[in-house]
This record gives sequence, structure tokens and C-alpha cells, in this order.
Amino acid sequence: MSANFPNVPESTPGWQNDYQKLTFYLENSPLACIEWNADFRVRYWSQRAEELFGWSATEVENRHWRDFNFVYAEDLEKVREVAQDLQSGRATRNVCCNYNYTKAGLIIACEWHNSALFDAEGRLLSILSLVQDVSDREQAVNQLQKAQRLAHLGIWEYDMIHHTSIWSEELFRILGCDPTQPIPPVETLRDFFDENDWQKLENASFEAIATKQIQALKLRIIRQDGVLRYVDVTVEAILNLQGECIKIMGTMQDVSDREIAQFNLKESEKRFRGIFEQVGVGMAELNLSGQFVRVNQRLCDFLGYSQAELLNLSFQDITHPDDMHIDADCSQRFLKGELNDVVYEKRYICKNRQIRWAKVTVSTIYNDEHRPQSVLGVIEDIHDHKLNREALKISEERFQEIAATLEQFFFVRCCQTGQYLYISPGYEKIWQRSRESLYADPLSWLELVHPEDRDLIISSLAEQEQLKSLRREYRIIRNNGEIRWICANIRVICDENGDSLRIIGLAEDITAEALQREELARSNAELEQFAYVASHDLQAPLAAISSYAQLLKHQYQNQLGDRADKMLEGLVRSTKRMQRLIEDLLKYSRLDRDTEPFQTWDCQLIVEDAIANLEVLISTHNATITYSNLPTIRGSRSQLLQLFQNPIANAIKYRSRDRLPIITITAEKQGNLYRFAIQDNGMGIAPEHQTRIFQIFERCHNLDEVPGSGIGLALCKKIVERHGGRIWVESQPNQGSTFYFTLC
Ligand code: ADP
Repeated sequence: MSANFPNVPESTPGWQNDYQKLTFYLENSPLACIEWNADFRVRYWSQRAEELFGWSATEVENRHWRDFNFVYAEDLEKVREVAQDLQSGRATRNVCCNYNYTKAGLIIACEWHNSALFDAEGRLLSILSLVQDVSDREQAVNQLQKAQRLAHLGIWEYDMIHHTSIWSEELFRILGCDPTQPIPPVETLRDFFDENDWQKLENASFEAIATKQIQALKLRIIRQDGVLRYVDVTVEAILNLQGECIKIMGTMQDVSDREIAQFNLKESEKRFRGIFEQVGVGMAELNLSGQFVRVNQRLCDFLGYSQAELLNLSFQDITHPDDMHIDADCSQRFLKGELNDVVYEKRYICKNRQIRWAKVTVSTIYNDEHRPQSVLGVIEDIHDHKLNREALKISEERFQEIAATLEQFFFVRCCQTGQYLYISPGYEKIWQRSRESLYADPLSWLELVHPEDRDLIISSLAEQEQLKSLRREYRIIRNNGEIRWICANIRVICDENGDSLRIIGLAEDITAEALQREELARSNAELEQFAYVASHDLQAPLAAISSYAQLLKHQYQNQLGDRADKMLEGLVRSTKRMQRLIEDLLKYSRLDRDTEPFQTWDCQLIVEDAIANLEVLISTHNATITYSNLPTIRGSRSQLLQLFQNPIANAIKYRSRDRLPIITITAEKQGNLYRFAIQDNGMGIAPEHQTRIFQIFERCHNLDEVPGSGIGLALCKKIVERHGGRIWVESQPNQGSTFYFTLC
């Protein structure tokens, strides 16, 4: 084949020698030499080509490169373009790097330097390819690129003479560009930086040129996809032999992951420090020998030491001797890895030697090898809380003792759920049922309520929340048939909106008292019956005695001597007094028999009637009585008349010796009641008598001074109570009295 090379017209004079020389050069060149004819069939295949690709010149002669498996499949397209450029005259020379197969099927990297050869008329004669095996270099480049990729290290170069740039593939990737695209013009580079960072890069370049030293700086880039990344950049000036800068080259390493990790680390450290300082509890980090490494202000405040003082102490120095074992035990277990965190209560000794309780939560901090590195303690001041808890425990114990000894039964019930929150042991004593049964069924107590009282109790339950407090007496029948009287007092506890929260109740066994009351009522009724009968039956003989006494006096006065006259006088007076007494007693005992239905009465008219009844007394003593705006009241007319008449009569009876009686009657509305006041300017009542005068037969003036039975005010009291009110007096001796009573 070599005889046919180069494709030179043989007629050309002087070429024979040169031809031999050229062949010699080509055959000894380290480059493989291939000449293709114009349609890319092998014309010349040098010795070196045989060595490189494995095919002999004879095997490939006149064969198109596509006809033997020569070009690496993925590079076929690239090679076709390069070939076409030369064939079509678009290029006279080009360089192509691609992979080729050897005859043995190995893949080698080759750098092809192709040149088109033309005849004198400019027609394409052949194509000459000089091929260099660059596999080693390619491998090195690949490894470098891989290393660059792994290190996220991009390389760039700017030729200051030709104003051209070279970017490594990784640089494309770092900037978010496509490595198959051409390198963008140098001016567009600034789009990847913000103004400030671009300025820094420019300054670093000037600095590198001026100082001839590598400049390193940290910048942020805005990638083509808009993502912000952190990069480490170096800039270096490349000088020619004359020391002039001809190129600037540099590296760019994407360190975002590291920066972000560092940033996060700093942030979390900052956050931790913030929490450490601002958290509302004491915190301390200790090394494994118990020395404080850092402490927060809260802990210093709690212990009374400054930070500096605490850092010179170990936790043993400030631990109460009796609690030392807790810490020792925990640290042992921490070191053995048996514990990760633990919570306990212990006593600290503060700087002022005071002992304070704290709740301590300790956890281990591990290093990267998961070995305990330090210990973090959270120290909560629970001193007051602990003392309160202890006080509460004592008071709880006392409460339980009291509850256990009390005969009464008290309870707390939740209004919303109806469940009992507390039932005292008294329930078991009174109901003779277990408290558990009541907790389980909150209405089970009702089962024992006497059938005759049950309706009253059920209706009371319905209205208790509305009434807020009530008192009921009822009977229960125990399982053994025994009847017990119960008195229950209920109070409803409300929130600030007035909504019911809890019911507190106290139930008491009042059987003994109830039986006594029944007995009393019975004997009272008997007594009243006796008083009524006696006074009623005494009236007739007394009337006879009275008339005989008066007759005797009338017929024998002044005939039997002074002594007999006085005795007759006393007899008449005593019988009259006896008659009055019996009359009053009858009025008093009749009151309970009064069946007059309650009606509405105008008190103004009742007072007028009372004044009319007392006309003689009033005019005799020149008494002045004023009254106005008295309301209408529901009640018994005859009783209301007594109620006003008795105090008016008393106001005159117990008048002052120094002044004429003045009586004022008023009424004032108080809620749904009226409070009446009958005020006089009489002799008044000493404070010690002010309560007892409302009891029957109680008087505080002797008979000679002012006659009376001591029944009038007791009668008034009974009347007021029958009308649902109460009566009392306010008085100053020698200044007058005011009798008050309330009526609905
Ligand atoms: P009596 O007037 O029949 O003794 P009352 O029950 O009406 O009985 O009064 C009881 C006592 O209260 C009287 O004895 C009197 O001492 C005292 N008392 C009642 N009203 C007055 C009054 N207006 N001023 C002073 N004392 C009075």
C-alpha cells in the first residue's frame, strides 16, 4: 500500500526522492497514518496503523471505514459529521476525538487530525488522517473529571489574549448549565453572581494579577435554574516568560452542602444556646466527672451562685449529703450505659446554706462514636411545691381522719356528670351501704328514701341547681327495716358565669332530734289544748267570781271597815286581771286553730281599724300616730289587726313619763318582702331584754309599774312566723323603741 502513498501525480518531477523520504517519515512516526480516498475508502494504512488497530493494510484496503467494525458505535454520528465536513469542503482540516475498536474488539481513545488534499484545480484528491492513541490521556482526563465531579470542583480558564474561555464539565454542572452546550461568553458570567459577589470576584482577579498569588474567596452563585449555591473559588494568574499575565484560571467548588450543614449546625447551636439561656428552668452541662461545663442564669439564680462560681464547682459540692447516693447511683448507671435519662428529686445546698428541693432530669449527650460525652441536667425548683405537697398530704390525712370520725356524711358531686367526686365514710354509717355502691350508681341512695318522702326529694333534686342551696328533712328505711330521719343541706358551687360546677352536701342522721321534736310538738299540742280548754273553761267560773266580787264591793263597801274595803278592791282587780290573762291566753292558743284563709289586705285600713279599737287609750294619753303608704299584704285579717294593734298599744303603755307618745308606722320594700317599723318615743328596752320579750309571759316591767300579761309580743311573733316573716326590736332605754317585722 505504501507505494500508492501519497496520492501525488507520478509525473511530478523531483518527487521520487521526496516520496521515499516522506514514506520513511510516516512509517517511523509515532502517529498512525491513514490516507482515505475522496469517498473514505482506505488508500494507505501505515505500519503504525496496523499496530494500533490490529488490521493489516491488506485487510482494510479499499474498504470504507463503515465497512469494518472500526468506529465506536456511540461515536458513529460524530465521525460521520467530521467526514462530511471534509468531503463537502466545509472544512479542510479538523480534529476529532473519538473511540475506535481494534480488530481484537478493544476500545481505544484516538485523536484524529484530518486534512483534505486537493489537486491543482482544487479537486479533492484524498484525506490524510494522523491518529494518536490518547487512551492513557483520556483515562487520566476521565479520572480527573470524575474526581472533579466528586469534589464538585469545576475548572475554568480565561485566555486574556484571545478572549476565549475553557470550562470543565463540572463547572457547567455547578453553574446549572448543560455541558453539551457551548461555553457562554465571558460577559454573561456575571449573571451567575449578585452584584456584590461579582465585584469580589473581579477584585480577586485583579489582586491575583497584581500579586501573582492565588486568591481564594467564598461566593454565592445563582444557578441557571435560579437555585442559590455556595462556592469556594480560587483565582490564579498565568504568566508568560516575560512575566506578563496571559491567562487567568481558577477553580470553583460547590460547598453548599457543607455550608448548609455548617449553617444548620450553627443555627441549632444558637437555638440550643437560646433555649439554654431563656428556658424557665435551671440547666447545666456537666462533664463525666461531674464538673459543670456550662450553666444557665436560672440555675445560678436558684442556687445563689454566679456562673463563674458554679463553673468551679462540681455537683457533689452543692448536693445535700443525704441525697449524694442518688447522684452517685445515677452516674454509675449512666457510665455503664444502663440509663439514657432519668428524673428524680433531690436537695441542693444554696450559697446561703439554705436547702432547696429540685426536680432533676438528667440525660446523656453522646459523641459521634456514640460514647457518653457529657451530661445535661434540667433542674426545676420544686421547693415550695414540695413543701405545699407535704402540707397538703398532712392536711389530706387530717381530713381523712375527720371524715372517718364524723357521724355526718358529706359529699361532693359533679353537676355535669352527676358522679360523686367524694363520699365521706359517714354514708356507710347512716345508709349502711358501701360508698363504692354509691360511686357506681350515684342515685342508689334514693332507693332507701321513705316512699312518703320520695316525691319531695325527687322534686328537690330537680330544683337544687336553680335554688343554689336547700335543706330537706326526710326518712330512710334501712335494709333491716329501721327508719332513720335525715337532714340534708345542699350548696351548689358555681363558676364566674353562674353555671353550676359542683354540689356540696352534708347529710346528718337526726333521728333522735326528730323524735324529740315530734314528742315536743305532741306535748305542745297537748299543752295548748290544755291551755285552751283550761282558759275556756275557766272563763265561766271566773266571770261568776268577778260578778260576785263586784256585787260584794257594790253592796258592802264602806260598811266592813277600811281593811275589808281594800280586800274587796284587790279581789275585783285580781279577777279582772285574771280575766285579761285568760283572754290573752285564749287568743294565743286559738291562733293555731285559726283557719281563716289568707287574703290580700290593705295595711293602711288595718292600721286605721287598730287605731279605732284603741281610741280611748290614744285620746286619754294624747298620743300622736302617723302612718302612710302602707302596702297590701296577704294574710289573716284578724291576725294582722293584732300584729299592728299590740305594738301600738304597747307604745302608749310603755310611754315616757316626760313626753307625750308619738308613734310612726312605716313600711319599706326589701326584695320580695316588706319590712314594717312601729317606732315610739317611749321608755325603751334594755339590750338584755330585747330578745326575751318575744317569749310568752316574759315582761320587763313589773305589774305595779305597768300592768300586762306578757303575751302580746309572743302573739305577734307567732303571727309573723305564720305569715313567713320575722320580728325583732331595736331600742335605747329612755329614748324609745322600734319594732320591726317582715311580711311577704
Ligand atoms: P305586756 O305588755 O302585756 O306585758 P307584751 O308581750 O306586749 O306584754 O310585752 C312584753 C314586755 O315587753 C312588756 O312587759 C314590756 O316590758 C316590754 N315592752 C313591750 N313593748 C314595749 C315598748 N313599746 N316600750 C318599752 N317596753 C315594751
